[in-house]
Amino acid sequence: MKKIILTIFIFSFLYNAFAGIKGEEMLSSKAKKTVTDTIPFVIDEDEMADYNDSIISFPSSDLYCGWDTINTHSIKFDIESLKEDTKEIALYDKNSCGYVHPFSGNVTSGFGPRKRRFHYGADIDLETGDAVGSAFDGKVRIARKSKSYGSVVVIRHSNGLETYYAHLSKINVEVGQEVFAGEIIGLGGNTGHSRGSHLHFEVRYLGHPINPTEIISFTDQRLVADTFCISKKTFNYVCEAKKAAGKTYANSKNKIHIVKKGDTLYAIARKYKTTPKELSKKNRIKSTQVLRLGQKIKL
Ligand SMILES: [Zn+2]
Repeated sequence: MKKIILTIFIFSFLYNAFAGIKGEEMLSSKAKKTVTDTIPFVIDEDEMADYNDSIISFPSSDLYCGWDTINTHSIKFDIESLKEDTKEIALYDKNSCGYVHPFSGNVTSGFGPRKRRFHYGADIDLETGDAVGSAFDGKVRIARKSKSYGSVVVIRHSNGLETYYAHLSKINVEVGQEVFAGEIIGLGGNTGHSRGSHLHFEVRYLGHPINPTEIISFTDQRLVADTFCISKKTFNYVCEAKKAAGKTYANSKNKIHIVKKGDTLYAIARKYKTTPKELSKKNRIKSTQVLRLGQKIKL
């Protein structure tokens, strides 16, 4: 009997000791796993952007605070901070390929106010599939699809100018690629907010559009001069655009819109820079309600 009790005791001791070791192993592996799980490898987007900026050399790094390859437009500098000084920039380096017209076609719509909006570029007529070339040497900052521009390429140049090529049917370049003046960057098309095949060509400086005819003669398809003077006057159109927007705003101060033929609540809201929801609330009508001619809409 004693032998049996002794055997059971020894067996029980060995079993518990074994189970204890196993338990510790499990606990330590669980603990290890937990430790591993609590240190996720997360890439902070801002840090990554800083890192990219530090390793990529980009044109005009003295003027721009970064090399944004996501947002089509660079951050706009404050025009009001511009004094009466004039800054003269060379339009191309002496040992570069100079200027090559992006596409030989008629300008169908120029820079300036267009209906209730402002047109920030020159529309050049072309057929879908026509080759579009870079105007100057530079580096591709944007090569992607955008809702309004469609397939668009933005090239930054060493003097701080950026040129935009929009509504393309095909993009032939990649972000970061160095291009030469005249190099085919894509094929013309009718993508994005576009009615009919054309090239929407823009010139911007530190985010602000410049009237391209101040730099390029579209009839002669060459530069107006080898240099360009940037001053407050270059951006006078911004004040004009603000004044135009101000007129619409002033109209809204009359507080009432009289419904004309073809008016919808959506169109009225858009005209006075408000929302159909706001108008339907003020006028106690449904946003889908058909409006009567002569009906007074409180703004
Ligand atoms: Zn356009």
